[in-house]
Amino acid sequence: MDYNNIIGHENITNSLKNAVKNNNIAHSYLFEGPKSIGKTKVAKIFAKTLLCKEQGVIPCNKCSSCLKFDSGNHPDVHIRLGEGATFKKEQIEEIQKSIKILPYEGYRKIYILQDIDKITKQAQNSFLKTLEEPPAYVTILMTVTNSYSLLSTIISRCQVLKFTPVESGKIVKELIKTYEKSREEAEVITSFSNGIIGKAIEIAKSEEFKKIREEVISIISDALSSDKVQIFTLSEFFMKQKEYIEEILDIIMIWFRDVLFMKELGENKFIINKDKIEMLLSQSIKLPRGKIHSIIQTISKAKSNILANVNYELTIEIMLLEIQGV
Ligand SMILES: [Zn+2]
Repeated sequence: MDYNNIIGHENITNSLKNAVKNNNIAHSYLFEGPKSIGKTKVAKIFAKTLLCKEQGVIPCNKCSSCLKFDSGNHPDVHIRLGEGATFKKEQIEEIQKSIKILPYEGYRKIYILQDIDKITKQAQNSFLKTLEEPPAYVTILMTVTNSYSLLSTIISRCQVLKFTPVESGKIVKELIKTYEKSREEAEVITSFSNGIIGKAIEIAKSEEFKKIREEVISIISDALSSDKVQIFTLSEFFMKQKEYIEEILDIIMIWFRDVLFMKELGENKFIINKDKIEMLLSQSIKLPRGKIHSIIQTISKAKSNILANVNYELTIEIMLLEIQGV
């Protein structure tokens, strides 16, 4: 695995390559960005590069260090995950002890601390000392979804690299090349991924997503086509698929945005559900413009309510009633 396996994030990978080239490697790095966007992957390739015996800006993939790294058995790489999703003081103390031991092989030791969002204040205070004066042979790479939970004194001791959504074109290309999707399919999946490459790949590999999308579209159609359909029957699906609710609400949201585009512009390049044009067309004829807008608002409200842990069942029912009440 090397930088060629990273889709997008060229600004970040280039700055890491330059750091190696100019021998200007920071003691600690903080990789910040949404889940599944590629932070850990980039951190690992950077770690592999730093340990590579060829000492180039990219890993050689051939030396004993690179081979050990790929097999997951490099003695100078220490990957740590939070215990019970949080880093506690004891865990940081264990890392601090381990840091004091000299590297086995080369002259460098890498610590990768994954998902430090939920690190406790106590653990942060204790870790601060290490970040202030780590031994010269240590490089610390940390990943975080959002650094707001970290003390500013921690952040200021790290080089922060922010991961932003990957351009759609690059994701589409990857899905066609590696996952053998048709262009149409790849474009639909990419729209659902919000530029998060890991999410796009997960959707591409998931039969479940395909199934759920079909079901959701048919629920929308049922809700719209008859006022006799019991909301209760429809909401049952949402109870069962609670773990996918974010994706489901995205599907519904994107669907009604398509209906709106269809209403305003007719069939056009902004439509995402390109494989369902006829259905979109008939709904766009049936629904008044104001109604589509209010449905979109309700979905957006449902999304924030669910994130805020407002009563799930009630939120879903209100949303379905709004869609149904034509
Ligand atoms: Zn190597």
